[in-house]
Amino acid sequence: MDFLAGNMGWIEVVCGPMFSGKSEELIRRLRRAMIARKRVQVFKPVIDDRYSKDEIVSHSSQSIPSTVVNDGSEILKLLDWRTQVIGIDEANFMGPGLVEICNQLADSGKRVIVAGLDTDYMGRPFPPIPDLLAMAESITKTLAICMRCGNPAKQTQRLFESADLIVVGDAGMYEARCRACFEAGCSKQEYFPFARPQK
Ligand code: ADP
Ligand code: ZN
Repeated sequence: MDFLAGNMGWIEVVCGPMFSGKSEELIRRLRRAMIARKRVQVFKPVIDDRYSKDEIVSHSSQSIPSTVVNDGSEILKLLDWRTQVIGIDEANFMGPGLVEICNQLADSGKRVIVAGLDTDYMGRPFPPIPDLLAMAESITKTLAICMRCGNPAKQTQRLFESADLIVVGDAGMYEARCRACFEAGCSKQEYFPFARPQK
């Protein structure tokens, strides 16, 4: 995967819930590309400035410099065409145009590595990740640990009431849950029984 022959490009997708290690995996692949002396550019959407504006930062505090874009189309404008490897984090905030852009980049010989949430707070497929999965040569699904039961977790549980699709937040607002513990929308049980205030 790291050493493609000739000038062939391709698309790799890393998807899963929050806290599942998508950013860590993206950073790992990009660092390896840098070690292989590839020219690398990294992009993330303007919406996500939780930790830093000019870096991707994982929940485990690993980081790599990145450029903020408003949407996918800005990637083409800011791209140095000598770049060989392109990393894109939080792709679910990049808009529907991202699929065509990733295809164009891969067709022109770039290795495109895209990370993003595959489902939203209701458990629904989160555009444009499903279409990207269909177009990709390589797919990795990362799982987190369920904060309720410790099983492998594929869902992102929202812990507050809101019907908005996109509310940027972190631990305390969202947590990872497995299929059995996930409650679509907002979690109705705010406290574990043993943590409930005694009357
Ligand atoms: P993502 O990009 O998928 O949100 P990150 O790469 O930013 O994930 O962070 C992954 C790291 O988050 C893990 O290595 C671990 O240190 C931490 N973490 C926090 N909560 C969880 C959880 N419920 N399951 C797994 N890892 C967690
Ligand atoms: Zn669970």
